[in-house]
Amino acid sequence: MNFIAAIILCAVFADFLLHMIADILNLGMLKNQLPEQFKGWYDVQQYASSQEYLRVNTRFEWLAAIVNLFVFLGLWFGKGFPMIDLWVREISASPVVSGILYIGVLFILKLFISLPFSIYSTFCIEERFGFNKTTWRIFISDRCKQFVLAVLIGGMLLGGVLAFFEYAGPHAWFYCWIVIVVFMVVMQFVVPTWIMPLFNKFKPLDSGELKSAIMAYADSIDFSLKNIFIMDGSKRSKKTNAFFTGFGRHKRIVLYDTLVKNHTTDELVAVLAHEMGHYKKKHVLWMLLTGILQTGIMLFLLSLFISSPILFEAFYIKTPSVYAGLIFFGILFTPIDFFMGILMQYFSRRNEYAADRFAVETTKDSGSFVSALKKLAVHNLSNLRPHPMYVVLNYSHPPVLERLAAIGKVGKV
Ligand SMILES: [Zn+2]
Repeated sequence: MNFIAAIILCAVFADFLLHMIADILNLGMLKNQLPEQFKGWYDVQQYASSQEYLRVNTRFEWLAAIVNLFVFLGLWFGKGFPMIDLWVREISASPVVSGILYIGVLFILKLFISLPFSIYSTFCIEERFGFNKTTWRIFISDRCKQFVLAVLIGGMLLGGVLAFFEYAGPHAWFYCWIVIVVFMVVMQFVVPTWIMPLFNKFKPLDSGELKSAIMAYADSIDFSLKNIFIMDGSKRSKKTNAFFTGFGRHKRIVLYDTLVKNHTTDELVAVLAHEMGHYKKKHVLWMLLTGILQTGIMLFLLSLFISSPILFEAFYIKTPSVYAGLIFFGILFTPIDFFMGILMQYFSRRNEYAADRFAVETTKDSGSFVSALKKLAVHNLSNLRPHPMYVVLNYSHPPVLERLAAIGKVGKV
């Protein structure tokens, strides 16, 4: 085993153990009583059910993590990577074609392993806790559409990256970066207008009390808003949500039908005020820019590692190739990815506080926002008291009690 292999192995086990420890600490917090702020919002039965939901999901994630770890180690030390390499080289002499095949085989393998888990999660866990509304028909059609999209879009992008690194010389990483940045920007428009409608129906919000209230609020903060849509989220789950996509004239706000059903007009305006706050405070733009920067750094590092023999030796491959280098670099990147993920989530949580603050200050109605947050937490069986270490590792949003406390402080100023 060489030096790179040792680093990767340590990183993979460290990542696994850290998440395990955070999970155990997180479950340990469940012995706590119902927090004061949620008295009257949760009955004893429901609160117990939310705790059980966390327990069941954590155990399920452990099983998935263990299976994934074993498959990866089996593939690695069972010399699976060179075996697939030999096979794709026999099929095609073109490094781009064999590269797409190589990564395609690994992609399909990953898909097959994750399939039973996603079936169990949807039809057993979500079903048991009363969330699931996905039928087998929807489930299968979703998977097929996702597969076709991944093959078309992913295949095209991958072919481009492989061809650049194969033929474009030492600046390949830079050309790739340009292409990927253009792709990321184009996708900001393509995803909401072309891809999301493949999975859900988006109906413009009808005129009425809700629409006038939202429009009046948007005007009050000088936010030009033309597109408000209701999405049939109830097609798959009873869980509630709202989100925001796009830039400029193309920006749109989407409300799940489940959310509209469960909340008052004032609460919905408060939720959307938070979403518009993300846009006004330029969080959406910053997220895109950090994504672009992150991609550039990754591609540059990739260009340094992609021809180093030690990386290929670590996975028992004798003839280096761009495609295998891409996969192995991705694996070697795990520890950097881990720290980058923690940092990004930290910024994301900070942005959530800022958007909450924006919503409360501009609507001047902290009561509606507080009740919206509480309803969301109760309805979706959110964990009210996650362990701080678990939050650092996994949460893109602050825990609801901390958000409520922060809003309380805004209200007093
Ligand atoms: Zn947010």
